[in-house]
Amino acid sequence: MLKIPIKKRHVVLVSILVAAGIATGGGVFAMQFYGEQAIAQQASASAKKLKQIDEKIAELKAKKLAEQKAKEEAEQKAKEKAKKEAAARTAAADAALAAQLAGQIVTPTGCAISGAHGNPNNIDVVVNKKNCFNPVNFVPSDLVSYGGYLVSNKIYTNLVGMINAAAAAGKPLGLSSSYRSYSNQVATYNNWVAVNGSTAAADKVSARPGYSEHQTGFAIDVSTSGAVLGDFASTAQYTWMKSHAHKYGFIQRYKAGYESITGYSAEAWHWRYVGKTVATDMKNKGIHTLEQYWNIEGGGY
Ligand SMILES: [Zn+2]
Repeated sequence: MLKIPIKKRHVVLVSILVAAGIATGGGVFAMQFYGEQAIAQQASASAKKLKQIDEKIAELKAKKLAEQKAKEEAEQKAKEKAKKEAAARTAAADAALAAQLAGQIVTPTGCAISGAHGNPNNIDVVVNKKNCFNPVNFVPSDLVSYGGYLVSNKIYTNLVGMINAAAAAGKPLGLSSSYRSYSNQVATYNNWVAVNGSTAAADKVSARPGYSEHQTGFAIDVSTSGAVLGDFASTAQYTWMKSHAHKYGFIQRYKAGYESITGYSAEAWHWRYVGKTVATDMKNKGIHTLEQYWNIEGGGY
């Protein structure tokens, strides 16, 4: 055995203790160090995740904003397009009207009836201020006379049936107008321009030539003795028609409250033949205009 002097032994012992102390302390330090590092790593990972979430939210927000902006821009563009089209249509209609009034026959561009409800020979045609005849001087080929009033043969039987039924119910009905030709409407409209002083004022009471439903042969103005046009609204005949006309295929074409859709003020006297099926379906469904029933553009010129 190595002989170490007592003094030196003491130094060795102290040295061992110190070394042990350092080792233990180091271990604790190491544990502490690695613990903190793990926490720091965890915190860093969490921060990274939060950052990713924030970035995702920001990205979604930006996407939503961009979508919103694109939607608004598209809406604005559509509005401007509709405005331009309306202006072009009005200008075309005015130019065509001026030509018509000057004696020429011109179909205004942008209003010619076409498509599913654009055949003036069919009882499902829609003629209004946005849908005019093409050719503008169209004449039905099957006009027949009822007491001197011309109508399309397609409505004749039901017209007679309705008038007979009204008479049997003690509500005798007469006619004050039916088919009107293009040239007849030119004369009618010109008369209103002269009386009211302007086309704008005439537009309020008369259809422009080529835009009148009377040109189809499917429209009638009904009356009773002493009650034509506006006066018809307060008659028992009007009340009877509101309840029974659909059974004969007729609808009141221009109702109060729907002026912006039909383009016309309410007319209690103006009835249009659309056939029993459609007239009854409209009544049952509470649909008051052909524009709404068939989803067709209406309103002003
Ligand atoms: Zn009428």
